[in-house]
Amino acid sequence: MIRNTRGTLVRPEPLPDSASWPVATPLSPSVVYASETPDMLDDQYEGRLTGYTYSREGHPNADQVAALIDRMEGCEGGVLTGSGMAAVSAVLMGLMQAGDHVVGGNQLYGRSLRLMAEDLPRLGIATTLADPTDIDAMRDALRPETRLVLIEIVSNPTLRVADLEGIAALCQERGIILAVDNTFTTPREVKPFDYGADIVIQSLTKLLAGHSDVMLGWVGARDPQLSERLRVFAVTAGLTPSPFDSWLAERGLLTFDLRYERATATAAALADHLAALPGVARVIYPLRDDHPDQDRAKTLLEQGGNMVSFELSGGRAAANAFARGAQGLSFAPTLGDVGTTLSHPASSSHRAMDAATREGLGMSEGFFRVSVGLEDPDALFDVFTQAVASASKA
Ligand SMILES: *Cc1c(COP(=O)(O)O)cnc(C)c1O
Repeated sequence: MIRNTRGTLVRPEPLPDSASWPVATPLSPSVVYASETPDMLDDQYEGRLTGYTYSREGHPNADQVAALIDRMEGCEGGVLTGSGMAAVSAVLMGLMQAGDHVVGGNQLYGRSLRLMAEDLPRLGIATTLADPTDIDAMRDALRPETRLVLIEIVSNPTLRVADLEGIAALCQERGIILAVDNTFTTPREVKPFDYGADIVIQSLTKLLAGHSDVMLGWVGARDPQLSERLRVFAVTAGLTPSPFDSWLAERGLLTFDLRYERATATAAALADHLAALPGVARVIYPLRDDHPDQDRAKTLLEQGGNMVSFELSGGRAAANAFARGAQGLSFAPTLGDVGTTLSHPASSSHRAMDAATREGLGMSEGFFRVSVGLEDPDALFDVFTQAVASASKA
């Protein structure tokens, strides 16, 4: 009971005793943690006792989620952050310093590209972008002062597959930190640590939490010293996750395996379904015979992923008709939701790019990226059949 009148206690009573315990993780929103004595607080700060002090530095809900992802990716001591971009920022700004050089994949997530193009140079950290499907291009981008390479394995939205093995060998040979943003692929598809990555990044906002109601990130490192540096920077810079988001993310993560199975199986079938529809000029799915990186995809990827891209013949008018006709699917710039979502790069993620460069990368006005969800596959295929038919008439 809270006795809130003047002169009495304003803190809650202790939690009631219980010989049994909750099956679901309790939500712990407390920002501060009380200690019994200064000696015990000392012991905690010195690591002789475990416990929490202040939630920017860590809290139970974040640690529960971090431990799940550590296990999935295969590392220890991963750090949960307030967003995927907080995790990317922790790596680039927490580990690099003026004079260093960073090489990034040329089709990284949009905000990661912006960090590379605008923010790192402002801090005296030079950057170069190169094509991670081309090992020679990556090698040519390296300089004596290159400290870190950041790549994604399957690129957004053209679903090209990076030469992870080649890049990992190159980084190892030159003593360069390899950081892999594994958001698109998830540890169900690839475990980058198995290929020699030093750091792995996740945006939980997407597939791992999976319900479009949580914004969180995670970063883990193989070397405990690197993960400690990441943790300290995240705490200092305030990249801290909220307990409520962490709690929701844990709930989402518990069904991730099942969701991923369903979504990837449907995605592979949807790719073949789309390829057979008149009005579809091109379908991109990493495991299909017509994919430029199919061989690499077959060795690197477990299942192929839940993302399918395709191009309608007929440009913007066809794209408008398709989006209007795709009943029940959200036309929304995200991925990994329980429901199938559509993204149109030319009007959203890649709108800032000039049209010629965009088309050169294969993203015409008729290009859509589909993040396949958990709908009944046949019902979903019908929606696409009808929407593509409306697009063909436009
Ligand atoms: C969404 C995304 C991010 C950023 O994650 P947020 O949680 O939105 O900050 C980083 N990398 C990739 C590949 C993403 O798709």
